[in-house]
Amino acid sequence: MEEKILVTRSSMPPFEEYVEEIKDIWESRWLTNMGSKHEELASKLCSVLQVPYTSLFTNGHLALEACIGSMGLSGEVITTPYTFVSTTHAITRNGLTPVFCDISPDTYTLDADKIEELITPRTSAIVPVHVYGNICDVDKIQQIADKHHLKVIYDAAHAFYETYNGKNVATFGDASMYSFHATKVFHTIEGGAVVTSDEALFKKLYNWKNFGIQPNGEINSIGANAKMNEFQAAMGICNLRHLEGEIALRKEVVERYTDNLKGIPGIILPKPQEGVTSNYAYYPIIFEKDIFGISRDEVSDILKQQNIFSRKYFYPLISDCGCYRDQYDSNETPIAKHMAESVLTLPLYAHLSLDVVDQICEIIRKAGKGAAC
Ligand SMILES: *Cc1c(COP(=O)(O)O)cnc(C)c1O
Repeated sequence: MEEKILVTRSSMPPFEEYVEEIKDIWESRWLTNMGSKHEELASKLCSVLQVPYTSLFTNGHLALEACIGSMGLSGEVITTPYTFVSTTHAITRNGLTPVFCDISPDTYTLDADKIEELITPRTSAIVPVHVYGNICDVDKIQQIADKHHLKVIYDAAHAFYETYNGKNVATFGDASMYSFHATKVFHTIEGGAVVTSDEALFKKLYNWKNFGIQPNGEINSIGANAKMNEFQAAMGICNLRHLEGEIALRKEVVERYTDNLKGIPGIILPKPQEGVTSNYAYYPIIFEKDIFGISRDEVSDILKQQNIFSRKYFYPLISDCGCYRDQYDSNETPIAKHMAESVLTLPLYAHLSLDVVDQICEIIRKAGKGAAC
């Protein structure tokens, strides 16, 4: 490949559209602190996501940290080791102890059947992740949470705009966090949000992200600074207009990958989930080395030699990261461990050419031992 193919490429509105959107900011000279773009984006997201409250943040990580920190939690939090490290850091940085539960081999999300055995008197919450936009077993997780009086906070960074059995994914649990990082399906350059139907939580989030200074000027809590600025919000307002088109283009890429790669021995493809309208955020494939012939790492190297940059996402498993491995044993979550060793996410973005997709698939097919016969 002459041109480098990266695993993702940020979606951008037409340049003129963004310039038009930020003109108001020049006129008002109001650059941050919950200005009119901020308020407009928050209200648009409430209607897009069908939630009463959207609290915008400067990034998704701080949104999750604020959310977990505003719920009055203590002790242990049950979560998945198969995620982006932000999820776990957000728990740990709040002085809480992550307890890792293994994942389901079908959706790569928390295995709800394994949660209850991990609950102790110290457990205060569950933090599941809708991995690759696969939706967690939300009904079972809620049942367990209700029975044991636990909070449920979803890391929905991968699941923007998705619905499950007709309901927007944002409506599950006590709250959900979204990331609007440049690499996500919908972005505000950097950015994030917590969505909830809990008004008291919404007010606490405001204080968390604004130094504890309440709208009336009183300061009764200790807060940080994590406000989304007007330029971020303006990018979000523009990108929202193009969201459905972006998703439709991603869908074409995903379908092309699946057409090309299905039936190759030793490769497991993403399975569309029943009842879910996907946002086509990621294309993770699993290499079963014994059958395919070579390992995930070897496939990744072969692609790299051809100027194609896939990503081992998620690798390493969180419980194998340097800052966590002394406290955990990744063998206790064998399915997650196997996934982390076998998964490769392939390049996927709205305008990735289908010819390039064909070439990537051809390189992968030829790399396998099935190609010889
Ligand atoms: C992107 C992401 C985050 C962090 O979001 P930022 O906006 O980059 O801070 C957290 N969790 C998951 C699963 C993510 O993919």
